[in-house]
Amino acid sequence: MHYRHQRVRPTTEGAAITADELPFSNAFAELPPAFYTRLMPTPLPSPYFIAASAPAAALVGLDPQALAQEDFVAVLTGNKVAVRSQPLSAVYSGHQFGVWAGQLGDGRAIVLGDLPGPDGAMEVQLKGAGLTPYSRMGDGRAVLRSSIREFLCSEAMAALGIPTTRALMLTGSHQRVVRETIETAAVVTRMAPSFVRFGSFEHWHYRNKQDELRTLADYVIKNWYPEFAGAANPYKALLAEVTRRTAVMIAHWQAVGFMHGVMNTDNMSILGLTLDYGPFGFMEAFDANHICNHTDQGGRYSYANQVPVGHWNCYALGNALLPLIGTPEDAEEALDAYRPAFGAKLDELLHAKLGLFDAREEDSALFDAMFQLLQANHADFTLFFRRLGELRLDGGAHDDAPLRDLFLDRAAFDAWAGQYRARLRLEHSQDALRRAAMHRVNPKYVLRNYLAQSAIEQAQNGDFGGVHKLLAVLEHPFDEQPENEAYAALPPDWAAHLEVSCSS
Ligand code: AMP
Ligand code: MG
Repeated sequence: MHYRHQRVRPTTEGAAITADELPFSNAFAELPPAFYTRLMPTPLPSPYFIAASAPAAALVGLDPQALAQEDFVAVLTGNKVAVRSQPLSAVYSGHQFGVWAGQLGDGRAIVLGDLPGPDGAMEVQLKGAGLTPYSRMGDGRAVLRSSIREFLCSEAMAALGIPTTRALMLTGSHQRVVRETIETAAVVTRMAPSFVRFGSFEHWHYRNKQDELRTLADYVIKNWYPEFAGAANPYKALLAEVTRRTAVMIAHWQAVGFMHGVMNTDNMSILGLTLDYGPFGFMEAFDANHICNHTDQGGRYSYANQVPVGHWNCYALGNALLPLIGTPEDAEEALDAYRPAFGAKLDELLHAKLGLFDAREEDSALFDAMFQLLQANHADFTLFFRRLGELRLDGGAHDDAPLRDLFLDRAAFDAWAGQYRARLRLEHSQDALRRAAMHRVNPKYVLRNYLAQSAIEQAQNGDFGGVHKLLAVLEHPFDEQPENEAYAALPPDWAAHLEVSCSS
């Protein structure tokens, strides 16, 4: 990926800096004023530190320990503005649940600016920092519950190797926020090279503002897709690459069982990053039609539907870019990148998940049979792949017990396992090698809803130990971590009634 700005040495190598001295630059603020509103975050009463992510801090050269200091807490809650920061909220529009929603925008997110880092600059944004001109009916705040979920999941996804926005820090305040019940406020410091969304382009297209549309496209190309600046049709090249990246991102989601929950076009990143963690979920008892968002009654964003919806969203982007691209044929051609990119990536990921080093024509039948078996038995998605890594080529039903126990229909499992072993033999697969390779791609630890819920309930009682613990576990999702075995367990009975919705 190409990032803007010069690369710098992490500041931790030099003298420690104060929050006030954070070296912000403000690329987005250099766009014309129509793209955003400059404003100040609204302070929160007595903000407190909850957690910081060390790997995220490293991306902007900060010392995670220093983030707990009062001046960083003040700046990253929005109570104080660093000298070089020019806070703003961006405008965008979008399609929500397939329907044109008109203008949306950063209703509770405020961008502080860009911080340099060893891999390029990161835009730093406070989610939940108060009212903006785009807040509509909202209060500009985020609650502790949903902020813990976004903070943990952003970092968990990064550790899983899935393209995502990052979470640097989580702060809270006793300020009350009204949702279904009364909760308290929190702020997540999010980071990404850019937070431009598909809906940022739709905004100008639907208003018939071609100059702004071109300005935004050129800004994105210049900073993140500079290789297309000299292309015969840079905008077509941009659409094709964004389509490809979106397809790759969704292949990752399907392979790990991640469900986003609100794949509206305003939540689709122009860089192909997983963006806006709300009612997301990780697949547990496998059901391709599972809907993780309680508010999504029609199941538009179910697990299986994520694949066509990703394509649909790229079409919405293509439609918005059409005046720049020229002909519908050119846009269609760019969008044609979706299916092959998704298919190739998922195929690659499934081969790795099954420990298959070769690719053979007949493998798709093995994969299809596996998904049918998972579906019929509602086997736990994460445990299935993890335990599959323990399978021995010459083992019998007894050796397979932990894996086999995930299936009610043991005979059906045995039949598929026979097919799988035959396929492994074809490439002379070796147990130890295959097991090591599979454990590097099939996580043992994912952010199951019940794990998040337990940490949230603890945090709501003032104890952030659960958040810290989960963050530490999820930073190493592929490691065995014998002392943390409990975090890999099936959900307890009480978790069956957990519901997550858009209310955040
Ligand atoms: P989401 O579905 O969470 O991505 O949000 C959709 C739109 O609603 C975005 O424009 C958000 O900024 C806005 N929004 C969501 N919650 C709030 C809130 N509490 N206050 C203001 N705006 C909000
Ligand atoms: Mg959003």
